[in-house]
Amino acid sequence: MRIRANNPSPMTLTGTNTYVLTSRDNRSAVLIDPGPDLAEHREAILAEVGDRRLAAIVLTHQHADHSELLGSVEEWGPGVPVHAVLPEFSRLAVPVADGDRIGFGDDEADVVRVVATPGHTMDSICLLHDAVLYSGDTVLGEGTTIVTHPEGSLAHYLESLDRLIALLEVGEYDRIEPAHGPTIAHPAEVLEHYRRYRRERIAQVEAALEQGARTAAEVCDIVYHDVDPSVRGAAEQIVRAQLSYLGALAPDDVS
Ligand SMILES: [Zn+2]
Repeated sequence: MRIRANNPSPMTLTGTNTYVLTSRDNRSAVLIDPGPDLAEHREAILAEVGDRRLAAIVLTHQHADHSELLGSVEEWGPGVPVHAVLPEFSRLAVPVADGDRIGFGDDEADVVRVVATPGHTMDSICLLHDAVLYSGDTVLGEGTTIVTHPEGSLAHYLESLDRLIALLEVGEYDRIEPAHGPTIAHPAEVLEHYRRYRRERIAQVEAALEQGARTAAEVCDIVYHDVDPSVRGAAEQIVRAQLSYLGALAPDDVS
């Protein structure tokens, strides 16, 4: 069950998707990405959980539009373990790592499996359950995701994409539920598009460097000349990640 928060923006698309998965016996539930701290969003989540036992909360990564509601978790989810890669977000549980299985019910199928997918941020994970990949911000329902510098890494991101493609090819999932935007029913096409798009952007950055651009701002003027001013800051962060990947980021070129 998807609950979309009312926090639309250029960066969150239509808003953050929070997911509530229920156990086979329908008596317990796990929450993926609590989302922003909005009263109506919190109420919608708690209504969806209903009388079920909330067994676990899992965070796909640190960004506030996914994690902010954890600030008041003592009020709405007292005693519920929070599973996250970063210790500062983990609660009543050890920080999660690749391959971990987080149980949320009595059936052996009541488990989400952690797939480490660093890149968008270094603490980004995806979760597998019932042949569905919950992708956080690693893959989005529309457009492409961003890799920023220094919290993300383009080299890691490209490896994570390869890994998701490999998992798809061995049949680990056939559908993606992203943290922003609609369901991805054809993951192979989307993941291939993501990979191609990244390679094209990297080639454009290399061309801009050959034209004489040196700073992230100069490269951004060439490669992202058509972006809306409201997302210019994000575009410069992306360029920094690209320059870092290419080994061409000047040490003094900081935001
Ligand atoms: Zn994010």
